[in-house]
Amino acid sequence: MIDFNVPPYIGTEKEYVAQAIDNHKISGDGEFTKKCSEWLEKKTGSPKVLLTTSCTHATEMAALLSNIKPGDEVIMPSYTFVSTADAFVLRGATAVFVDIRPDTMNIDEKLIEGAITKKTKAIVPVHYAGVSCEMDTICDIARRHNLLVIEDAAQGVMSTYKGKALGAIGDFGAYSFHETKNFSMGEGGAILIRNEDLIEPAEIIREKGTNRSKFYRGQIDKYTWVDAGSSYLPSELNAAYLYGQLEKADMITEWRMKCWNRYYEMLTPLSKKGAIELPYVPKECTHNAHMFYIKAKDLDERTRLLKHLKENGVDAVFHYIPLHSAPAGRKFGRFYGTDRYTTVESERLVRLPMFYGLSDENVEKICDTVIRFYS
Ligand SMILES: *Cc1c(COP(=O)(O)O)cnc(C)c1O
Repeated sequence: MIDFNVPPYIGTEKEYVAQAIDNHKISGDGEFTKKCSEWLEKKTGSPKVLLTTSCTHATEMAALLSNIKPGDEVIMPSYTFVSTADAFVLRGATAVFVDIRPDTMNIDEKLIEGAITKKTKAIVPVHYAGVSCEMDTICDIARRHNLLVIEDAAQGVMSTYKGKALGAIGDFGAYSFHETKNFSMGEGGAILIRNEDLIEPAEIIREKGTNRSKFYRGQIDKYTWVDAGSSYLPSELNAAYLYGQLEKADMITEWRMKCWNRYYEMLTPLSKKGAIELPYVPKECTHNAHMFYIKAKDLDERTRLLKHLKENGVDAVFHYIPLHSAPAGRKFGRFYGTDRYTTVESERLVRLPMFYGLSDENVEKICDTVIRFYS
């Protein structure tokens, strides 16, 4: 069986984790955490990147820093992972789901303005498959209506929109370093903060409501409880693993891009015949090959295609069940307007294996299996 995902592993991670152990520093905010934050700040141009225990937690921090309160509304796509909504729903907000564009599977920027009410506080674009949402339009709407933009860039590390790193365009960005993402630390993530006035409040929330970060930098001689907070910092063991990956981020991305391009090339004839649809990358975007997906005609054809792939040794999978159709989505959210694309497009989508180390030979085998299904 060709696996759908294999967690990224370069080889240096073991050595770095051992180093953290030998340094007697395995709790958070040591050398490796610092190295990862600095690497990410340099790469993205964000004034501050803080490592977190997950992307979910990075988004929760953004919700806290945005002062999201019960009764507020937050605009997001329904075609996304639960965390996008959870972070705001936990603060008592309502998730307002807006339909997606069928070409990129991202929130349809043209529908956002109509979903805004007096209660709207933020827009949460999700960069599906590491391909950017239409950020100029989204940021312009936010500016005109005085809303915050919180990017769910879980899948967008190393992707850009008009040359700007995803996650560093809005007020906040959230990255994921879960084992299913391009770069990993097992479980983990990062928050990117654009407003420099919010860096200190962010450090406080992340460190149990204390000013311990300032204390570590020698700016104060004892630390104390200054606000309500939680514990959002990952251990050095996880950060050490991640640093091994970040150092080789270009190599990992090149590998994935090579697989992505091979898929695209080999499946283009099928798409030209109208049998399947291939992903679309707008010209403003460079992507990180987080995912390679194809779209079958409908749910029934997709079910048969997935079965055919499994029977032929290929572990392909579908993706999100739209949040507005889930029990919690009905309770904590509402769909704005009509669901023209979210449900039907999600039912057609098939994700093919994609990971660092996937061989050319296997990409070809997978493509041949898809082609045989349609012949
Ligand atoms: C993976 C993912 C998350 C959650 O990431 P964690 O680090 O597991 O919390 C959130 N949003 C999207 C779009 C994701 O793909």
